[in-house]
Parts: sequence; structure tokens; C-alpha cells
Amino acid sequence: MTETLLLTPTEENLALAARALREGQLVGMPTETVYGLGANALDEDAVRAIFAAKGRPADNPLIVHVPDIASAEPLCCIDERSRRVMTHFCPGPLTVLLPKKPIIPQVVNAGLPSVAIRIPAHPIARRLLELSGVPVAAPSANTSGKPSPTTARHVYDDLAGKLTCIIDGGECQVGLESTVLDLTREVPTVLRPGGITPDMLLEVLDEVAVADSVLRPLQKGEKALSPGMLYKHYAPKGMLSLVSGSAEAVAGKIRRLYGEAAQLGKTVQVLAFQEHLNAYKGLNTKCIGSLAAPETVAHSLFATLRQADAEGIDVLYSEVLPAEGVGLAVMNRLSRAAGFRTIEADEE
Ligand code: AMP
Ligand code: MG
Repeated sequence: MTETLLLTPTEENLALAARALREGQLVGMPTETVYGLGANALDEDAVRAIFAAKGRPADNPLIVHVPDIASAEPLCCIDERSRRVMTHFCPGPLTVLLPKKPIIPQVVNAGLPSVAIRIPAHPIARRLLELSGVPVAAPSANTSGKPSPTTARHVYDDLAGKLTCIIDGGECQVGLESTVLDLTREVPTVLRPGGITPDMLLEVLDEVAVADSVLRPLQKGEKALSPGMLYKHYAPKGMLSLVSGSAEAVAGKIRRLYGEAAQLGKTVQVLAFQEHLNAYKGLNTKCIGSLAAPETVAHSLFATLRQADAEGIDVLYSEVLPAEGVGLAVMNRLSRAAGFRTIEADEE
């Protein structure tokens, strides 16, 4: 057990965190997506400590963070197409899979031929990377399986005692993890949707595929393109179900299910869009953002799920939105948080 320091992002504190990284220790850092649990990617023991702290399966590879394309060159092979994508979207909430160079220890990328590279846009993350002078392997800074952390407090709640310090950069702007784009395939393929949408990627690519498993569980025997998709993910402690259909039918269905669960003595919560809050008057309801602006849902989703845990909610019912644009990323996380439990409200 180490005492974990919660630090404001002063230059002095960032220098201290950078030194901790160089010395093989673990550091919690804000990024524009979610908070990361960082370690020197070239230090095998430090990387192993990340897996131990999170309880993360060893076959789920990590993303390596660098401040710029030049710092990525020694780590991976960047062809003309990849360079075009990176020049356009980095720094930003995009992770690219590229053929790895030998310097990357196998423990970082679970022995795969590719390595995941990200250049974050968050000024604090960027400064920390510059000061550390090492590539930083950083998964989301949560206990494996739980919703990802979007505040320094979330990181502290999950991992206090397991890392040296956490830099407090306030709330993460995007709120969901980066888009993971596999550039080692002939057709660039989105393995995990995020703030950079397939339509945005088409601005610089002729073709973009989206992995089938983005919106459904893997079938028995199906090989995961991205090992992270295999695991239970983002789940609150309470039992979350998604309810889909026309707005009116959804509200009716949720009101009925809410009543039944409450009768059984359960603590229940509705997750609803701003536009529909009126339909749930009198029920314990949390606004999850605006249907018209999916990025607001992305921003608050994980914090809402964590808050439900803190309030001891047993049963949650959530509205859904179209899986388009940033909505695709929201539905990818929400479906997994619900273990793919979806109730059709129109079928009655
Ligand atoms: P996290 O670090 O928690 O944001 O998760 C990183 C995601 O990127 C997981 O879903 C990983 O499986 C995926 N990932 C990282 N590196 C690779 C790789 N080399 N090949 C395929 N997926 C990867
Ligand atoms: Mg994660």
C-alpha cells in the first residue's frame, strides 16, 4: 500500500508525477476522454503493476500515450495512410492500432503484432507526457469491469493505495474512452466507437468499417478483434436494463416496471433524456443529457452510473438513443453496462 496523493496540476506537481513515471511508479492522469492509469510503457514491471492495480486480465492490451507523432515513430510503423489519419485527428480522442516495433514489451500489447497509440489533446496529459520523456501505457484508471473514471475522485475511490498520485484535472470533457481504429487492416476498422465518429474518419479515409461486435455481445467461439470487448464492462452494481421503442411506449413501460420493482422493495432509478423528464414525474429520475446532443450523454454517462452505485440503487431503467454519430459510442457502452439486457416497449 502506498499513500496516494491527490495533486492539483501545477508545474511542480506535474514534474513530481513525471519523475514518478520515470521511476516505474503509477500515476493517475486526466485526459479529454477518461482518466488514465499511467506507467512507463518501456518498463515491464511498471506495466505489470497496472494490470495488478486494475485487476485487468493480462490478455487485454494497453494503449500507449505519446505527446506527438515524432515520439510515436520509435514505437510503431507509420505508413502514409496512418500518417494522414494521425496528422488530421491527433492530438485528440482517437487511438490507432499500428504494427509494433520491437521496443514495445510484450506485456503492453498482450503479445499481439500491433500496438495501440494515442496522442491526447488534454493540456495536462500533454505536459505530463512531455515532462516524463517516456511513452506512457495507460488504460482507464478504474477497477476492471467498473464504469471508467471521469473525475479524479472516481480514480481515488477505485484505486487509492495502489498508485503514487492522481493529477486532478476536473471533469473529462468527452466522458467516454477514445475511438479505437485498427489501421493494420486493409479496410480501417473501428473496434471501439468514441468521440471521433466513422463519418469524421471518412474525411481522410476512402473506407471505414465498424466491427460487428460494437453493438452486440461476441458469439460463442467468435474471436475478439479487440480483446477488451470480451469482458464485462462499465457495469454499475445495480441491475440496468435498456428500454427501446417510441418515446411514449418507453415511458409507459418504464413506469410499469418501476412500480413492480418498487413493490418488491427495490430502490429504482430511471435514466432519461432531458426532453422526456416530464414523462417520469414522481419517479426517482436522473437526467442523462439531451437526446438532441449525444455528446452531453457521453459526457455524463459514467458519472451517472457511479452515482447510482453511491446511492445504493438496485434496479435501473434507461432510455436509449439512435446508434449514430457519438450515439454509437454511447450505445456501445450503455449496452455493455446493461449486459445487453434490452426490453422492447412497442411489442405490447
Ligand atoms: P482501455 O485501456 O481500458 O481504454 O482499453 C483499451 C482498448 O483498446 C481495449 O478494448 C483493448 O482491447 C484495445 N486494444 C489495445 N491495444 C490493442 C491491440 N494491439 N489490438 C487490439 N485491441 C487493442
Ligand atoms: Mg477501460
